[in-house]
Amino acid sequence: MSTSKSWLICAVLVLVMFVGFSFLPPTVYLFGAILAFVIGNTESKTGASAPLARLTMAMNQPSVQPLTTTRVELPERKMPDNILADLKCPSCGANIKPTDKTCAFCGSSLQPLLDLPEPAKLGGLEIGKSLRLVHPRKGAQDYRVRGRLLFTELWQASRGPQVPWTPTGNYFAGFALEPVAYLLNWQDRFYLLEDRRALTDMDINRDFVPYARQFAQSDQTARVEFSYGGAHWQMVDIGRFAIEFEEGEGSQLHKGAFGRFIHASSGDQALVVNDFQSGGSGGQDTLWRGFLIKETDIMF
Ligand SMILES: [Zn+2]
Repeated sequence: MSTSKSWLICAVLVLVMFVGFSFLPPTVYLFGAILAFVIGNTESKTGASAPLARLTMAMNQPSVQPLTTTRVELPERKMPDNILADLKCPSCGANIKPTDKTCAFCGSSLQPLLDLPEPAKLGGLEIGKSLRLVHPRKGAQDYRVRGRLLFTELWQASRGPQVPWTPTGNYFAGFALEPVAYLLNWQDRFYLLEDRRALTDMDINRDFVPYARQFAQSDQTARVEFSYGGAHWQMVDIGRFAIEFEEGEGSQLHKGAFGRFIHASSGDQALVVNDFQSGGSGGQDTLWRGFLIKETDIMF
């Protein structure tokens, strides 16, 4: 029912009411007034409920959702926010972190306040620790860990926009290093990434998505190659992740952020694209370039 039609009916009813009041006997007028009220009431109800019904339909309609929306279901973890800042070892009184399993000063074992899952590799590499890496171009280099990220690998039980992405049970670690570099483990690959730059969704859609899609359609078995930034790359891995936990500093990523990744290689050079879900999931789309290194080249 259109608004103008409702107004017209209302106007006619008012007119009839005035005319009736002037000429009709009181009992007939009363009957007429009740009839007019019933008509008006029905009008107002259908008029008000129609847009509401349309809104409800629109909200339940999956095609209205933007294509970038992906459902991610992560386990709830209790995070005691307020007591994390000032933790002391009960044995020696040294400062400890909520994730510490042993005291770095006296070596006594601790009950960690945050019971986080262990990453598949580099679980013992903690904030403040020094490490030596064999850099593919510069040889042995010394670094210090400034920040640590714990990634959850995600998967879908079946394909489709309504199927949620849930943890596979695999956790991987990333480390913000000093001098500035980013050490990342994913599956059995170790990346030393040095060159970071921001990407837009447009950059990703133009430079990477067509190749990622081709790779995905082959269930990641096809040899998919592409040119980017003056080099020739081969697709290695694509997938989705969520950041389970972050600690320390030097990382631009935060707990709860989730998105998809593209890993490509060119000889021992590596390219890592992080495409975060738009709409406040907490990450800046990023391109990292660096090198693929061996696990045995990481000493700490
Ligand atoms: Zn201690």
